[in-house]
Amino acid sequence: MTEPRLPITGGCLCGGVRYTIGEAPLFSGHCHCRNCRKHTGAAFATDATFRAAAVTWSGGQQRFYGSSASCERGFCPVCGSTISARYASKPDIVVIAAGSLDNIDLLAPSDHAFVKDKAGWLPLGDGLPQFQGPLPDFKAESEA
Ligand SMILES: [Zn+2]
Ligand SMILES: [Zn+2]
Repeated sequence: MTEPRLPITGGCLCGGVRYTIGEAPLFSGHCHCRNCRKHTGAAFATDATFRAAAVTWSGGQQRFYGSSASCERGFCPVCGSTISARYASKPDIVVIAAGSLDNIDLLAPSDHAFVKDKAGWLPLGDGLPQFQGPLPDFKAESEA
């Protein structure tokens, strides 16, 4: 991935919740799990994971829904946009919904997780690695 121009900015559809990120993501990828589908309303989620300390929030407060004992999913209470996820077991990172970035082309997703839950009508022709479950280095997502 080419280094994105910093800072990275983004926010929800109504603009009420905003963020500024001072570092490139640790990684970025697609997740096809049921909870990501439900949370985004899309066939799959594309996320970028950052060090939590690099993310500065501004504007309104997100609300969080606990989709499991370990995962909370953040959304704008005004417009409902999916914005983030955070894991109790990994407090040092924050997952940002890639669609909320102001410039989505900053990211280069590297893999597909939970392909076992993928929509049958969705072909994956991008050649990226596919994992049937969570990413090998991100087992917390299996609890999402
Ligand atoms: Zn909003
Ligand atoms: Zn997922």
